[in-house]
Amino acid sequence: MKTVAFYTLGCKVNLYDTESMMRTFEDAGYQIIDFKTKADVYVVNTCTVTHEGARKSRQMVRQAKRRNPDSVVAVVGCYSQVAPEEVAQITGVDLVAGTKMRHELVTLVEEAKEAKLPLNCVGQMMETEEFEELPVEEYKERTRASIKVQEGCNQYCSYCIIPYARGPVRSRKPGNALREVRNLVETGVKEVVLTGIHLGAYGQDLGAEMNLVELIKMLLPIEGLERIRLSSIEITEVTDEMIQLMAVETKFCPHLHLPLQAGSDPILQAMNRPYTTNMFWREVKKLREQIPDIAITTDVMVGFPGETEELFSQTFDFVKEIGFSQLHVFKYSIRQGTPAAEMDNQLPKQIKTERSEKLRQLGDKLTLSYNDQFIGQVIPVLIEEERDQTTGMLNGVTPNYIRVYLSDGDDADRGNIVEVRLVNNYGDKAILGEKISV
Ligand code: SF4
Repeated sequence: MKTVAFYTLGCKVNLYDTESMMRTFEDAGYQIIDFKTKADVYVVNTCTVTHEGARKSRQMVRQAKRRNPDSVVAVVGCYSQVAPEEVAQITGVDLVAGTKMRHELVTLVEEAKEAKLPLNCVGQMMETEEFEELPVEEYKERTRASIKVQEGCNQYCSYCIIPYARGPVRSRKPGNALREVRNLVETGVKEVVLTGIHLGAYGQDLGAEMNLVELIKMLLPIEGLERIRLSSIEITEVTDEMIQLMAVETKFCPHLHLPLQAGSDPILQAMNRPYTTNMFWREVKKLREQIPDIAITTDVMVGFPGETEELFSQTFDFVKEIGFSQLHVFKYSIRQGTPAAEMDNQLPKQIKTERSEKLRQLGDKLTLSYNDQFIGQVIPVLIEEERDQTTGMLNGVTPNYIRVYLSDGDDADRGNIVEVRLVNNYGDKAILGEKISV
């Protein structure tokens, strides 16, 4: 039997794309095996959000070819889309396929096997109009599954390479999304995480009747589906209708990941982000008035060109004031081809490192203080299939995205929603809980 191994870098969207490519290969008679073993085909699904993603992508290609010099090494994903020539020159690459044509990957791999030179199939992304259907019918992880409903972005934040790598906004047809969620629920999935490159733009290309809230309303009645979560959404796309729906629908998880990126207006403007700090605050207040326990998590970027000490302090204070429940901190990194790469006042690495460390420490404190409010409460926890690799404990997440470890869980709890009393903090980012017998 022919074998194929995958390596995925980057975000949830990439993970989803890998899952769907795996199914395509399985359907063509391939066996999926571990990337660290000798395979006939290696697929490296790359990322280009930071320098690190591109470096790691190159490293994985080389490793694959070393493991089996006769294999076909295919490179897909964002890095190969924005720098196809560069990727084709990496020793060992046989196929460069970008972020289009992944549904034809098996055929392209067969063609690459015959070709003498690396096959470059990267198409012009900006001509892409349709959402590429890559359904996932079964997930390895059977409790929580991401489902991709949107692709591309039209926002062009000045630091971001993604619109060039993923092309314009395309939305999945609601009927196809509905079918996939029903299938996943039949395999035991209880929570779906709606995912996209710019999720809040869902429906923009489907006509006035369709948007993210309408899609959620279509999914809510699915029997056996216990939770719907959004992966990430811009603050400007949180509508009153969405807030009201979240306030009344227990299946719609009270958790929003709202990327802030900076808490100072001059930096937000230079980043081409479509809001001010005042607008952000206003929406957060509105959310908390109607959904008091809501978890609001965020991304913050430090070291953007021109970020002075004073502007960084503004970001620090704003993040503290809002009191996000989790913080993902990124250091700005130059992406060639973006406007920010040409800006003056690029900051030294050392400053970026110091600022990101400061914010990370703040993030830990904020998580602790958010989690503290729930100690003593009984909350439903969706227990993951796999035990924690270090402690061997069962664990899962609450609707408001608190990671909970079970002191007294047993195997029968795996994949189920269990009522848990939250007892005390467990490290900086989780809570220890005990089951409530019913
Ligand atoms: S919204 Fe901005 S940061 Fe997000 S993918 Fe689009 S351009 Fe990039």
